[in-house]
Amino acid sequence: MSTQTSKESILKRMGIRRVINGRSWVTILGGSVMPPEVVEAMEEASHGYLELEDLYTKAGEVIARCTGAEAGLVTAGAAAGLLLEAAACMTGGDPAKIDQLPDTEGMKNEIIIQKSQRVGYDRCFRAAGARLVEVGSPEGTEPHEFTDAISEKTAAIAYIYSPWLKRNPPLREVVDLAHGAGVPVVVDGSAMLPPAENLTRYIADGADMVTFSGGKGVRGPQSTGILCGRKDLIEAARKNMSPYASIGRPAKVCKEEIVGLVAALERFVELDHGAEWEHWVGMSQTVVDHLRGIPGIRAVVETDNPDRQGPPAVIYFTPEWRGSSPSEIQQRLTEGDPSVHIGRGGFGDELWVTPVTLQDGEETIVGQRLREELTNSAS
Ligand SMILES: *Cc1c(COP(=O)(O)O)cnc(C)c1O
Repeated sequence: MSTQTSKESILKRMGIRRVINGRSWVTILGGSVMPPEVVEAMEEASHGYLELEDLYTKAGEVIARCTGAEAGLVTAGAAAGLLLEAAACMTGGDPAKIDQLPDTEGMKNEIIIQKSQRVGYDRCFRAAGARLVEVGSPEGTEPHEFTDAISEKTAAIAYIYSPWLKRNPPLREVVDLAHGAGVPVVVDGSAMLPPAENLTRYIADGADMVTFSGGKGVRGPQSTGILCGRKDLIEAARKNMSPYASIGRPAKVCKEEIVGLVAALERFVELDHGAEWEHWVGMSQTVVDHLRGIPGIRAVVETDNPDRQGPPAVIYFTPEWRGSSPSEIQQRLTEGDPSVHIGRGGFGDELWVTPVTLQDGEETIVGQRLREELTNSAS
């Protein structure tokens, strides 16, 4: 290929088209769009060499400051954060145990997890060699069910936050009973930023380790994550990851990603989240405004459901609806030009558009495309 082609748009050359993302910070659509200051930080880091250990330490200090934890670590996504939580609780700082993973013979290797909080990502605990011990029912867990399950093999109790997941009992209660038995609590808070208060909330509730995605609402590099918590456990996590050839080595982060995450996190804590929320509400209102007068649907901006990311435009279908199924409408929007991805479900089979990943102006396109598909399908 001639050198001239390098000036051409790489996406065009590869035949990749952009899509409109009304489905939030989901990995399958590219996660998030990094703000310019994040890209600039990564670019700067790319221009030369540095001592990686020094960078890890300084980045960890920024994470500690922003989360209120004793220590922090940049990880390869929250999924790597989960792997390292499990590894750290099983090995501590013991070099022989670190070397032994994923074989956990002779170690505390059980992680207690609630039946009501199972998500596919808990596989990442198992990837470190841990065995999951499930407690409770789909509705929640009784305190005695935790204490009955704790044994001399218990490495940690996991607490998973995710939209629509049960939080019964609340984290603070689980922490109290775990600490009463000398067991650490590790938290998955991957998708819980924003709101920014959650950065410090789970640590303040007493969690020993907490992981967040760096590439969702924080808008750092898609492949980054934040791990924070007790100093001894974060040090153990660090020994279990790259640059060492330990269990976390396949989850390496590069210097550009570490610096990018730091820039994104610093931006995130300083952001005027109230103003951003109002901007999002305005975008969702625009979508809703496009959907007036269509029989059989009720379109509203939902600002008060913490399980929805941001304040989405939600489209409920009433018994008068005579058009296509919500999934067919969702599918046609995806196949259209431009391709528009929206969400479905939550309470039932409603459709929703979250503004958090819409780029300015896209709210009008989404409103128009939705109106077209809804009116075409109902006539
Ligand atoms: C997104 C998510 C993860 C994985 O986070 P990554 O940063 O993509 O690795 C883990 N757990 C939950 C609940 C999530 O929503």
